[in-house]
Amino acid sequence: MAAFGTVFTPEMIISRYEQNQWSTPAMVSSNSISLHPGAHVLHYASTCFEGLKAFRHADDSIHIFRMDKNVARLQQSSALLALPAFDPVMLSNMIMDIVRQYAADVPSPPGSMYIRPTHIGTEGSIGKAAAPSLNSMLYVLLSPVGDYFAGGAKALRLLLEDDARCASHMGMVKSGGNYASALQPIMKARAAVQADQVLFCPNGDVQETGAANFLLIDGNEIITKALDSSFLHGITRDSILTLARDRGMKVSERELTVDELLERAVRPGAEAALSGTAAVLTAVGTLIHENKEYQVGGGEAGQTTAALRQALNDIQWGKAEDKFGWLTKVC
Ligand SMILES: *Cc1c(COP(=O)(O)O)cnc(C)c1O
Repeated sequence: MAAFGTVFTPEMIISRYEQNQWSTPAMVSSNSISLHPGAHVLHYASTCFEGLKAFRHADDSIHIFRMDKNVARLQQSSALLALPAFDPVMLSNMIMDIVRQYAADVPSPPGSMYIRPTHIGTEGSIGKAAAPSLNSMLYVLLSPVGDYFAGGAKALRLLLEDDARCASHMGMVKSGGNYASALQPIMKARAAVQADQVLFCPNGDVQETGAANFLLIDGNEIITKALDSSFLHGITRDSILTLARDRGMKVSERELTVDELLERAVRPGAEAALSGTAAVLTAVGTLIHENKEYQVGGGEAGQTTAALRQALNDIQWGKAEDKFGWLTKVC
């Protein structure tokens, strides 16, 4: 099985913003774009993206999960990067058109079609370090993906890091620069303590990992950081919290300190998990802080984590009622 994100459909769909207008979206080969070497994105990181999925149901119909939320988040990221504004209806139609075109390539569960809308500043001007790109490109790549948990869902090891993942005013932007800023800490954590991910906790405030949100599950309660501009507002996070409330769980969106986390995570029955589109909800088995290892609920994947992941998958896969209206049928 090819690594996640390395296989693409032969075509993508693209619209360009030039001379103050968007071009009619067109299907083009997804293996190349033409870009000026001085393009704004290549020097000043005017790039943002989204990650969402389309699922095949038992009757072979194809459904996209929470597309409206992802489109709205790309609009927000674009605005925060001062990229040209786009019509959300245009992008929704682009996504539906390319998914419909490659409907036959959408894998059956537990696989899915990963959808990667991308918006980049293309103006060829290296003089614009402190000015926005007037031109841009908005395109949607498709990548069929298999079971993220092929080979078994192993509980993750997280290193707690006192630093921030990115500049605090950039946390809500799904933008390339933020991943660049998190790369060295993650590489160091892998080499030093064989951690899978870094949990960024600036000033002792438990925030998120490099590309997923963090949830502590203690009995009937889920605790996760309340939304503010310092971190990425995950759509999986929102979906899991919605499903948890629906099951009668107590959802506490508030500040969580490293001290409280380490104290509660080791209690019997405690669970911790990461949420994100790619891995849905992944159990955390070990927290590492100041050279000490803390086993979360015995170090094994927890039952509530598995149940919530299943509940979300059941809606995505058409096995449970879509009671919150999260699916858009494409064909
Ligand atoms: C994409 C992302 C998430 C998860 O968002 P989803 O909408 O759930 O996929 C969380 N944190 C960061 C930094 C991300 O890039």
